[in-house]
Amino acid sequence: MGSDVCVECTNCDAGESYLLGVGMNYFDTYELLPRLPYYPNGRVRQSYSPRYVAYIQYGARKKVMDILDYHHVHSQDVAHRLYACPKCNTLHGRFYVRLEYDDCAVYELNFRCGKCRTPLVEASEDAIESYACKKCGKQSLVRGAGMPLWD
Ligand SMILES: [Zn+2]
Ligand SMILES: [Zn+2]
Repeated sequence: MGSDVCVECTNCDAGESYLLGVGMNYFDTYELLPRLPYYPNGRVRQSYSPRYVAYIQYGARKKVMDILDYHHVHSQDVAHRLYACPKCNTLHGRFYVRLEYDDCAVYELNFRCGKCRTPLVEASEDAIESYACKKCGKQSLVRGAGMPLWD
């Protein structure tokens, strides 16, 4: 089950909320699929994707769907996560995906800051006060009253 972190700036009126975790139905479509046989040398195409692919940005979504469709995926680690830009010191919500497939292939999403392109690092929701407001730049963020759980 996912949660929702609400962040407010005490200096300006900026506010943002971030989803964290995974919803209960994120894998639904995939679970309903009949198990298709896997041929090591052939490509078996599935016609459905798990619901979580909707949260992946388009370029990466195509790649993830391709792996799900044409490869033997044995581990899917997905979650909404909180990231921070080490340069701007700002918070960013991203949907993380890590797929392990075939013999030892791994596809993992990495993210960059939309403003300065610096690779994002994972942030802790307990350290929100240490990041800067995207609007006014002040280090005056507090945790607001968000919805504790969704879905
Ligand atoms: Zn602010
Ligand atoms: Zn940045």
